[in-house]
Amino acid sequence: MTIIMNKINLKSLSREGIYRFIESLNLPRYRGDQLIRWLYKKGAASIDEITEFSKELRNSLNDVAYISNLALVKQVKSSDNTKKFLFALQDFQKIESVLIPDEDRLTLCISSQVGCAMGCLFCRTARCGLVRNLKSYEIVDQIFSVNRIIKPAKVTNIVLMGMGEPLANFDEVVDALWRITEFFCISKRKITLSTAGIVPKILLLHRKVPEINLAVSLNATTDEVRNEIMPVNKRYPIRSIIDACKKYPLQPGRKITFEYVMIDRKNDFPEDAYRLVKLLSGIRCKVNLIPLNPYPGSELKKTTDEKVLAFQKILLQHKLRAFIRESRGQDISAACGQLRAENKI
Ligand code: SAH
Repeated sequence: MTIIMNKINLKSLSREGIYRFIESLNLPRYRGDQLIRWLYKKGAASIDEITEFSKELRNSLNDVAYISNLALVKQVKSSDNTKKFLFALQDFQKIESVLIPDEDRLTLCISSQVGCAMGCLFCRTARCGLVRNLKSYEIVDQIFSVNRIIKPAKVTNIVLMGMGEPLANFDEVVDALWRITEFFCISKRKITLSTAGIVPKILLLHRKVPEINLAVSLNATTDEVRNEIMPVNKRYPIRSIIDACKKYPLQPGRKITFEYVMIDRKNDFPEDAYRLVKLLSGIRCKVNLIPLNPYPGSELKKTTDEKVLAFQKILLQHKLRAFIRESRGQDISAACGQLRAENKI
């Protein structure tokens, strides 16, 4: 539980924690149900917004508790309708969330850490290192805040693909996932967690939060190249990731997504495509080919369109489902961590 100036942050409490808190104030249990409804269904940003409570009750709650919120620092809209939000946390650290509208979906890409310790060569967030883990309510608050901004529309899908490595902040992320499914009623089918490949945590994930979609940022087909662009590979090499993916239980019709950021003359050779086919054989999966979105100062370049198409063709010829995903929102620095970096935090 988070306590600031002796006040309890109501959003830091679990469902049971809310009932215990209500009990500690000698209030009846149904007040707990009301509180949960206002916090999570109605998205109350302050105790004063809970108009179902009398002024008196709100005052006494205000004496001992508060509701935390993210502060919107900046909002940018891209020409492809992607919206990027920069939020400040209570300790003034900043995180990014990206809203990606598609035909019938509003997908929010959320952050799990301030910064990241993975050190991937192509990723802007990696450049600042890990500042700290997010608390589960800070992860969930990104959805709250965006829902408030886009009202009456609502986020329908979640991808844990923003700043940070979600499996390196395992407990808080697991807690956040439960809150998202329980309180926001976003089903697990509509949540995807993307990892750089922390193998023991991939194996644990389905036990803690069954049925959520798994995406793995593979990005290379040999340990030599992957070690260079994703240092986490030295600890958990490609074979161990593939083995963990083979053990990941999939619901009927579901697939594991492999992300493959295409970097000029690093991982975009035809041999890579053939190796990828071999590596992924026996896994129900799809591959998202993402041309690198280079950040200023980086020496890496994106693969040309022709080469991306040729790479995709090889995968398709071998019956691998492969899609080309242009990174959205390039004109608003949507590549990982760029907005935060631009604001020099
Ligand atoms: N740590 C997690 C989630 C954050 S990165 C993970 O590694 O999956 C989310 C995705 O963005 C990853 O697939 C990563 O490979 C990709 N990515 C990072 N920087 C990028 C860039 N500059 N251009 C294109 N994709 C990038």
